[in-house]
Amino acid sequence: MVCEICGRRPAYNLYPRGKVLCDEHFAGFVESEVKTTIDNYSMFTHHDRVMVAVSGGKDSVVLLKVLKNLGYKVIAFHIDLGVEEISERSKEVFFGVVEREKVPYKILDLRDFFNCGIKELSKIVKRPTCSICGTIRRYLMDRYSDSSVVATGHNLDDEVAFLFLNLLNWSLEYIVRQSPVLREEHGFSRKVKPLSFVYEYETKLYASINGLEHVVGECPFSKGATTLLIKKSLNEIEKSNPDFKLRFLRSFMKIKEKIGGSSDSRVSLQPCVKCGYPTTSGICLFCRFREKALSYSIS
Ligand SMILES: [Zn+2]
Ligand SMILES: [Zn+2]
Repeated sequence: MVCEICGRRPAYNLYPRGKVLCDEHFAGFVESEVKTTIDNYSMFTHHDRVMVAVSGGKDSVVLLKVLKNLGYKVIAFHIDLGVEEISERSKEVFFGVVEREKVPYKILDLRDFFNCGIKELSKIVKRPTCSICGTIRRYLMDRYSDSSVVATGHNLDDEVAFLFLNLLNWSLEYIVRQSPVLREEHGFSRKVKPLSFVYEYETKLYASINGLEHVVGECPFSKGATTLLIKKSLNEIEKSNPDFKLRFLRSFMKIKEKIGGSSDSRVSLQPCVKCGYPTTSGICLFCRFREKALSYSIS
């Protein structure tokens, strides 16, 4: 099989896209898809400085590389979760990529806020690691990003799985808010997901073609059984309906526009009395976690 563009080099069959492309033309294709998403959803322009959340996993590393190649001004942002083996490896990958790509960066350590890592914190506040991790990441990205735009590496498979999960639970509040872009409001920074229309297998391929080092494997704390099951089922559907995920997310966005689904539906937020972060209850979750963790480490 040879590339349909250059007709010379050996190529991959990207069946859901109906394309056959070589390494170079595949990489160019992914980059142009991302550019289209950025422009279609007015995520940011070449004048903006974009904070890219880089965990060290393949998607975040790919996102940084793609945005850099497209000529955007990026800053890499990493949160050290303080989990022995994993965090060290993630940091190693992070430093490797920012050095190679020559991008400015910012790194925060959870232990500076809680005196402990995410595992211990989860025990102290008696909540699942994955859920507090999400809360903390969002908080730190909002409070400590040096930019009004924060980009994360969620890919098409993540977005469709998330949408399905919310449909299964009829979590209307999340369904109407789901979008590749969440505008800045009430003191939250703008959140964008430029890889929303890029398949997971495509980010994997892009990483391997570009020799991008990354942390392999799922986060040990994440992915409840339900999310994994949904991803597996969606892969089954996709097998007999190539491009199902793409069509599903695109159609959802069109329907949302028609029925006027708004991304601005946060209810009555007030500033946290401790830190000023927007919250629905007097003291925000982050500050409550922090209080508990600090009093725990004193006692
Ligand atoms: Zn080619
Ligand atoms: Zn607070």
